[in-house]
Amino acid sequence: MNMTCKHRLLSLLLLGALLIGMVGSVPTEAATMSELENKLEKLEKQEKEIKNNLASANTDLSASQERKDLLDSQIDNVTEQIDLLESQLATTNKSIRDKQAEIEQAVADIKAKEDAIRATHDLLGQRLRAIAKTGNLSAIQRLLNTDNYTDYLLKAKAAECIARQDQQTMDELEAALAEINRQKGLLEQEKAAIEQEKASLESLKAKSDSKKKQLDTLYAAAQSEVRKLQSTVSSYNKKLEETRKKIEEADAAIEALIKSTQSVGKYDQSMMYWPVPTVRAISSYYGERWGTIHRGIDIANGPIPIYGQNIVAAADGVVIAVNYTSWYGTGWSYGYGYCVIVDHGVDSKGRSIHTMYAHASKMFARVGDKVVGGKTVLAQAGNSGDVNGPHLHFEVRVDGVRVNPYGTYVHPNVN
Ligand SMILES: [Zn+2]
Repeated sequence: MNMTCKHRLLSLLLLGALLIGMVGSVPTEAATMSELENKLEKLEKQEKEIKNNLASANTDLSASQERKDLLDSQIDNVTEQIDLLESQLATTNKSIRDKQAEIEQAVADIKAKEDAIRATHDLLGQRLRAIAKTGNLSAIQRLLNTDNYTDYLLKAKAAECIARQDQQTMDELEAALAEINRQKGLLEQEKAAIEQEKASLESLKAKSDSKKKQLDTLYAAAQSEVRKLQSTVSSYNKKLEETRKKIEEADAAIEALIKSTQSVGKYDQSMMYWPVPTVRAISSYYGERWGTIHRGIDIANGPIPIYGQNIVAAADGVVIAVNYTSWYGTGWSYGYGYCVIVDHGVDSKGRSIHTMYAHASKMFARVGDKVVGGKTVLAQAGNSGDVNGPHLHFEVRVDGVRVNPYGTYVHPNVN
């Protein structure tokens, strides 16, 4: 055997190994694709849950924020009230001090008048006593500092005159004293009224202070709640971002797998067959759902319960992926449950067309099966995987990318 022959043999062996590898790789590749589909469904479910959690956390947050803002304005009101009361109290205290000073002045005036009255009274008494004791001349003479009776009489007359003046002075002083005492009484009444007012202001202030204290406590609680919810919201946002990234990665992987698979046959139907002939109701359309895109249609809620109804191939083709190993799937495959992917070949524009059927209860299709549109039963509908109730989740992929099948590829009233 020469080198060329050896080379040729080696090439043949390599080619054989490659072919065996390719044949052998079909189910593996298909299983991987199915797992990726399941993974994608699971991630979308997770995204939905996170979005719901995020929405409710955001609702809680805005409620807390509102509570906090309300408390904030209440605290402002109470603080304003306290400031006003404090300024009123300051004014009142000044009034009390002023009244007190006036009262003290009145007391001093009273004392001065009383002293004057007492002095006048004493002097008058002495003089009156001296005049009364006319029988004791020597005593009165001594008092009046006189030596003879004529002088005494003159002086006694003078003393009488002075005594009358003293009496008048005293009367005037007593009238003034009475007036000052009356004014003092008025001042004391006014002071008492102001003190009463001060007491009521102080009681109002005490109430406001205690209300402010309560509000401060509530405010602190609301503030800490807001902070907590803000951190919850940001953690949900982070999770949501991570999940979205995973969804994008998984979706891209499925697309890449479909693109790497050589489509067989030709897709030339104007419309596909309705995948569940006995149930022609749609429970959820393609498009926005829970803030995300539902990339398929859900078939359920017709007059006949969907569970156990036959799922047929929507068009002629070949089964390229099946998940029938576990009800829920395991690990990455959790979500879609029992599911099938069918390759329908290439359409007139050269694009590969695939369909996917998820959440089945019983699987009939096997990888590599050739299927006939509207006839071949792939599975029976159910509620396997991550579902809220039995339904068929049906997808159409064009060149690996999911499109809205409704109206364009399927319609409940056509086929
Ligand atoms: Zn669905």
